[in-house]
Amino acid sequence: MDTILVVNAGSSSLKFEVFSVTDDLNSLLEGQMEGIGSAPHLRIKDRDGRVLAEHTHASADVPDLPSAILRVGAWLRDQHEGDLVAVGHRVVHGGPDYDRPVLVNEQIVSDLERYVPLAPLHQPHNLTAIRAVIDRRPDLPQVACFDTSFHRNHSPVTSHYAIPEHFFAEGVRRYGFHGLSYEYVAGRLREVAPSVAGGKLIVAHLGNGASLCAISGGRSIESTFGFTALDGIPMGARCGQIDPGVLLYLLQQKGMSADEVQDLLYKESGLKGLSGVSNDVRALLSSEDPRAAFALEHFVHRIGLHAGMLAAALGGLDAFVFTAGIGENSPDMRARVAARLEWLGARIDPVRNAAGALDVAASDSAVRLYVVPTDEELMIARHTMALLRGG
Ligand code: AMP
Repeated sequence: MDTILVVNAGSSSLKFEVFSVTDDLNSLLEGQMEGIGSAPHLRIKDRDGRVLAEHTHASADVPDLPSAILRVGAWLRDQHEGDLVAVGHRVVHGGPDYDRPVLVNEQIVSDLERYVPLAPLHQPHNLTAIRAVIDRRPDLPQVACFDTSFHRNHSPVTSHYAIPEHFFAEGVRRYGFHGLSYEYVAGRLREVAPSVAGGKLIVAHLGNGASLCAISGGRSIESTFGFTALDGIPMGARCGQIDPGVLLYLLQQKGMSADEVQDLLYKESGLKGLSGVSNDVRALLSSEDPRAAFALEHFVHRIGLHAGMLAAALGGLDAFVFTAGIGENSPDMRARVAARLEWLGARIDPVRNAAGALDVAASDSAVRLYVVPTDEELMIARHTMALLRGG
């Protein structure tokens, strides 16, 4: 059986999923190596959730991402019957040029290095994973799928910052991220809600990373994300939209270094920074600490504001779609966000919402409300297969 391996590489974790090419991209197994370099732990499950492998490794045995990839590759070779025909990678930043997935080679990987400063927490690891496979299996086709591509048709007005024009030419633009998730959800809506799929939509990817995307006629026209994945609504540990004057204050008055500011904005802010409790919405919902409740109130407030902004960009709103960890699993958070959309005519149905139905809108709601689970890995597998087949 021919298979595709989908890889999502982070700083200390490697997530992967194997799909059958022969069997209509059915998911065969998924796994994760966590604690790379500190307390490496590999866990692999089949599509029914049965654990296929669980190993704790010495940190010296899996010191870095390339060694983690070798371990996973060795397990697949020894324990799994599939014939790997390609690897698809999630690559966060494709810059202005990569408006679709590409078959990668060493030259393209070098080109993509340009965007490391724009996605410092993700891009270097995404590229390290590709290089590790090139080193080991140069014959194996690899496809890079970008989180930015789905947004590449944004108009110039949308893509610009109001700074001197030459910065735009250098690549200082509003890009938008979570594109693989939005592309998947937009496609899924065509199947499950065809009457609204071509209309004016806001999709809310509410996970540890979080953003909203305005979609019209199936295409992204606005995103709350900008140049980097820091902008827009607050996230688990990222700040979201912030007055650039705050950064000047931190640098000039507080004497913080650029690295310290980067750590603050990417790792110590958002729900975590505001609550002082956790970046995890489940922990915040169950906490007695008033700062946890405040952080969630702030989060919902900012989602409401940004949804209003995107509704203005769309010139109306037909449907609002919840996806990702919080959006798919928390009726409480969905209800709170929907309450911020009441001025647009949205009414959530409490029973359908509690049940996690696909359509959670009340019958008299002027805006349809949906819950559509995302699947970025399947999207990557589809792109990888399409490129393998020359499409
Ligand atoms: P993701 O990045 O898409 O995996 O989403 C992670 C986020 O989803 C974390 O903030 C989790 O707390 C949140 N999450 C997952 N399940 C639930 C749940 N049942 N209720 C509330 N939040 C949840």
